[in-house]
Amino acid sequence: MADNEDALRAMQNCFHSQFSVDEAEYEDIEENRRTSVDEDSIYLGCTLSQSFNPDFHHSPVIKMGWLHKTPPQGTLVFQKRWVMLDAQYLRYFQNEKEVYSKRIIAILSVTKVLNVGGQKFEVVTRNRTFLFRAENNTVREEWVSVLKETIQQQCNSMEKSLMNFSDTCGQRASRVPLISKQGYLEMSGLRSKLYVVICADSVFLYRNAEEHSQGVGITSIEMNLGTVKGTDKRSFNLTTIYRTFSFVAESEQQREQWVEALQACVSHSLSSNAVAQKIWSEEANQRCADCGAPHPDWASVNLCVVLCKCCAGVHRGLGQSVSKVRSLKMDENAWTENQLFLLLGNDKVNLFWAANIPPSEMLCPSSDSEERQRFVTAKYCQGKYRCYHALFGQQEALNKALCNTIQTGDVLETLSLVFCGADVNCYTGDPELPSPVSVAQHYGQTLQVEFLTHNHNTELPGSRTGDHTILEAALPISHTGYLFKTASSTRAVTERKSKGDFSRRWCSLNQGNFSYYESEKSSSQSGQMKMSDVLCLVVNPQGKHGYGHSFELYHDSGRVYLFGEDSPDTVREWIKVIVKALVPPVAEDLVGWSFERVGRLHYTVGQSFHCPCLGWFSLGGSRLLLLLHGEDQVDNIDLRKLQELSVEQEAAAVVLVDRGRRLRLEGDRRPDYQGWLSGIQQGLGRGDGPLDQQQLTETEVPVIVDRCISYITQHGLKSEGIYRRCGVNSKIAALLLSLRHDARQVRLSEGVCQVDNVANVLKRFLREVGEGVFNGHQASLPWLHTTTVSEGRERVSQYKALLHSLPPVNRATLGAVINHLYCVQCFADENQMNMHNLAIVFGPTLFQTDGTDNSAGQVVEELIQNYQDIFNVNAEQLQRQLDMISHVIKAQEEHAEEGTPSPLTICGIYLERKEEGSELLVQISQAVSAEELVCEVLRRGNIPPQQGDYWSCFLVNDNQEMERPLHYQERALAIYFSLGKDCHLVVKRNCYMEAMLICIAAMVDVSRNSMIKFSDEKGQRGKRTFSRRLCVLDGTSLRLYKEVKSTQPERECQVHALKVYYGIKKRLQPPSCWGMTVVCEQAERDKQQWYLCCESKNELIKWLATFMNLQHNSDLCPAASRPDS
Ligand SMILES: [Zn+2]
Repeated sequence: MADNEDALRAMQNCFHSQFSVDEAEYEDIEENRRTSVDEDSIYLGCTLSQSFNPDFHHSPVIKMGWLHKTPPQGTLVFQKRWVMLDAQYLRYFQNEKEVYSKRIIAILSVTKVLNVGGQKFEVVTRNRTFLFRAENNTVREEWVSVLKETIQQQCNSMEKSLMNFSDTCGQRASRVPLISKQGYLEMSGLRSKLYVVICADSVFLYRNAEEHSQGVGITSIEMNLGTVKGTDKRSFNLTTIYRTFSFVAESEQQREQWVEALQACVSHSLSSNAVAQKIWSEEANQRCADCGAPHPDWASVNLCVVLCKCCAGVHRGLGQSVSKVRSLKMDENAWTENQLFLLLGNDKVNLFWAANIPPSEMLCPSSDSEERQRFVTAKYCQGKYRCYHALFGQQEALNKALCNTIQTGDVLETLSLVFCGADVNCYTGDPELPSPVSVAQHYGQTLQVEFLTHNHNTELPGSRTGDHTILEAALPISHTGYLFKTASSTRAVTERKSKGDFSRRWCSLNQGNFSYYESEKSSSQSGQMKMSDVLCLVVNPQGKHGYGHSFELYHDSGRVYLFGEDSPDTVREWIKVIVKALVPPVAEDLVGWSFERVGRLHYTVGQSFHCPCLGWFSLGGSRLLLLLHGEDQVDNIDLRKLQELSVEQEAAAVVLVDRGRRLRLEGDRRPDYQGWLSGIQQGLGRGDGPLDQQQLTETEVPVIVDRCISYITQHGLKSEGIYRRCGVNSKIAALLLSLRHDARQVRLSEGVCQVDNVANVLKRFLREVGEGVFNGHQASLPWLHTTTVSEGRERVSQYKALLHSLPPVNRATLGAVINHLYCVQCFADENQMNMHNLAIVFGPTLFQTDGTDNSAGQVVEELIQNYQDIFNVNAEQLQRQLDMISHVIKAQEEHAEEGTPSPLTICGIYLERKEEGSELLVQISQAVSAEELVCEVLRRGNIPPQQGDYWSCFLVNDNQEMERPLHYQERALAIYFSLGKDCHLVVKRNCYMEAMLICIAAMVDVSRNSMIKFSDEKGQRGKRTFSRRLCVLDGTSLRLYKEVKSTQPERECQVHALKVYYGIKKRLQPPSCWGMTVVCEQAERDKQQWYLCCESKNELIKWLATFMNLQHNSDLCPAASRPDS
C-alpha cells in the first residue's frame, strides 16, 4: 500500500503542471459546450501531454482511430472524434490524448451495426443511434466488421469471468451483483447532477439513471491508484492520477456512504492482483512476452504467454481460435492455469515462439498498434519466429512424439510439437486411450491435459490462408526419378559439395507434394515438402558442385534442399516439372527463359510500407521478371536501367526504382532473400565490365557516357579546346572511379576546370572499357579497313553495314558519341574543335589504339561527317536538337550573369538541421511541391515515413531564429530561388503539426481573438518593445487594436497576404519563447514584419492553427500523413 501511495504522489506531481493548463482551458471548454450544437454529453477535459496510451484503460483495446460523428439531434455537422473499442465498450473522445471519454457505449446494449451510404455507419442501441463516418470505405468496413464480431463474441461466449469487472451497463446489469453504490451526485463545474455508479474497481458516470439502464454513459474512471477524501460536510474528492473529481452528495450521511464505497472500490482494484502477483512470482512473467512491457496482467492460456493490455488486445483480435485471452485480475478461483504459467514462464515459452526474431521486427512497449498487429500476427498466426521442431513436416513422427511426451511433465516439448504440426486429436493407436488427452489423464499429467484442452481447436501457425490466392492452382504434375541430395541446411549452400556429400534418393512429385525415399522400393518416405511451402527454386551454375548440374529448393521453414545429377537433361526435366508445380499458370511467362532463380516474395509498390502483397519473380543476369499481385501480365525490369537501388540492411529489404516506379522487396530471416539480393546487385551493371554490363539509360547508352555527354553539352560546348586540354589527372581518376562505382549516384558539379576533367573522364572510359565500342579488336578491323575503299558512297554504305552488325548497346553508344561530336563541331567557331581535330582525339580513343595508325581518326571523321546518313538521322530532328542546345547554352549564360541557378536545378536541402554533411543535393523542377520535395529528401536520407511523424520543408531565416514550414502544396523551386543570403531550406519534423491538427479538429469557431504581446521593431534600440494588443484574426484579416475598446484597428492585414514564421529574432528580446513573426506583404513596397508573442505553447499552437486553418481551409498536411488515414 505504501508503495502505491508513493507512486501516486509521484505521478500527481508529474501531472501538476498539466493541471494548471487544463484549468486555464476549462473556460474554453465550457464555452464550447455552450455554443456547440453537439454534445448531449459532458466533456471532462483532461489531456495528456503525450499521445494516447491505451494502457490507461482497463481492457485491451481491439481497435481505435479517428472517425467523424454526428451530434445526436438534427444537423449533419460531423465532428472528428477519437474512437476506441474494447471487448465491452465502444468509447469516443474529444481527441486521442483525452483520458476520459465523451461517450461510453456498452457493447451489450448495441442491437445492431448498419452500413449506411457515403462511408457512414450506424451503431444502434435500444434507444439511440450513433452515426459515424469513416475516412473511406475500407476504414468503414473495418469498423463495421470488428464491431459486429465483438458484439457476436460478447453475446455468444458470455465469458462471465471477463465481464465481471465493469459490466454495469446494459441488460446484464441487474444480474451482476458487483455494483456497490449508485445514485445522483453533483459534480463541481457542472450545472446538472450526474448519475454515478460504482462497480467493481471502476466508477461510471451517466447523465441520468435512464442512460444507465440503456447502457450509454459518459465515461468510466478506473480506480486503481485512486484516492478518496472528504473535503466538507457534503463534498468529497475523488483523485486519480489524471485529475480530481469534486462531488457533492445530498447529505452528510450520503457522503459517508459514497466515500466508503469508493474506498472499497480502490482496495478491490488493488486486491484483485492476487493471481497476477502469483504468476509474476516467476520472474520471466513480469514482462510482456511480446513487447516486454512491465507488469503484464493478461495471458493467452493456449499459447502460454503472459501479456500486457495492448498486446492482449491484438491477441483478442486474432480470435479465440488462435489465442484464448484471459485477465490475470480475475477471481482467483476462476484461474486454474496458475501452475502452467509458473512451470513454463515467458522466457521458456519464447525459446519456442521467439527463437528467430530479426532485430528490426522486435516489439517494444512503445510500439504502435500497427507494429503490434504485424508482430503478433507474424509470431502466432504465421509462426514466423518459432523454433522449428526437428520433426517438422513429418506428421506421423510428430504425432508419435506427442503421444510419448504427454506421458511426461515436459509441457514445453508438447507446445513445440503441437505448434509445429502435431495433431492434438490424433489417434494414439491404443483403443483404451485413443486420444492424447486420455493418455495424459491416464498418466496423471494434469498440466498436459490443461494445455491440450486449451488447444483442442487451435488454428495452427501458417494454416491461415490469405496470401494463398496467388499460390493457387499450380498444375497437378507428377514426375519420379533418382536424384542426388545433400542433407538440408538452414542457410544457402555457398561451399562446393563434392559427390561424397550427396546421397541417391528416389524422388517423387505428385499432387503438389515432393517426397524422397531411400530407394524406389522404400514404402516410407525419408522426407516430404508441399510445393506450396517452397518459396524459391535456384538453378546453380554448371559445375558448382560435384554433380555437374544442380538446383536448390528454399522451404518456408527456412531450410534449403540441394539436389544434383550429372545429366543435364535429367536436371532440366526436374526443374521444368517443379517449376510447373510451383508457379501458378498465370505466371507461366516468368519461367520460359534461362532464369537463375524463381520464387515468391512480399513487396510493396510506391511509398506505402504497409500491407505487403505477394508476387512472383524470376531473375537471371540483368533481367528481373515479375508478376505482381492481381496482375495477369508478367512485367520485365532491366536491372541495368534501374534508376535507383537501395538496400535497407536493418529491415532486410531492397528498394528498386524502375521507370519511376518504386518497388520494395521485403526480405526476412530466410536464406532465399540473400540470394535475391545478391542476384539483383550483380545484375545492376558494373562500371568495370564491357559496355553491355554497364548501368544503362533507357536508350541503352551507358550512364557514364550519358552523364559526361550531357554535362559537356551544358557547360563545355563553348569551351576552347574541349577534349583536347588535359584536365587534372587526380581529379579525373577519382571522378571515373566514382562513376564506375555507381554512375547514377554521381552529381557532376559545375566549375571552370571541371569541364576538362569530365571530357577526359569520357575519353578515358571509352578507351578503357572492355572490348571497346567496336566490340573487340577483331570486329574493329573491318571499320579501319573501310578507309582503303576509294569511293565515298561505298565507304558510307560499308559503315552502315558494320554499324548494323554491332550489338545494340555498342550501336547505341557509338551513336550517342558521334552525335555528341557532331554537336561539338557545330560550335567550332567558339571551341576551335572542328571535325578533324575531334577525330584526331577520338580515333585512338574509340578504337583503343596508340594513335600511330591514322585510319582510326579517319573513320571517326567520316562518321561525324556522314553522321545523318550513317546513323539514319532525320535532318529536322537534328536541327531541333541543335536549337535546343543553343537555347540551353543561352539560358546558362543568362543565369551565369544573374548568378541564379539554372532551371534544371540541383538544390541543396538540409535534412533535420543545417550542419556539415546534412546537405542533400536534390534535382527538382518548377512543378515540384513541398510535399514531393520532403518525400524525396526523406527517401534520399533513408527515413521511412512513420505514423504520427509530420515532416515539413522549412524556410529558415536570419541565423535560424525564425522559420516557416512551407505548406505542402507550395512550389518548392520558386521558394528556393527566392532565398536570400543566410536563408536555407531544411526538411525536418514539424513539431507543432500534430497539436495543430488536434486543435483544428476541436475548433468550433474558426476565428480567434485575445490579448497578445506585440512589437513592430520600431521602438528604441535596447528597450523592450513589446506591448499588449488585442489581436483579432478571422476569415478576412488580422487586426491589432491598442485597447479592447478601440473601434479602429491600429494595424490590419489581409489573411492571404500573411506569411507566418515560427520564432522571433532574439535581438528583440521577446517576452517568451512562444513567439511568431508575421510577414505582411499586402503591397510590394509595404512589407511589414509584426512580432507576436504568446504566454504559452498552447496559446501559440492555437494561433498557428487558426492561421493555417484560415489560409488553407484546414488542409494542413497531405492526406497520407494524417493520423486518421
Ligand atoms: Zn505487450
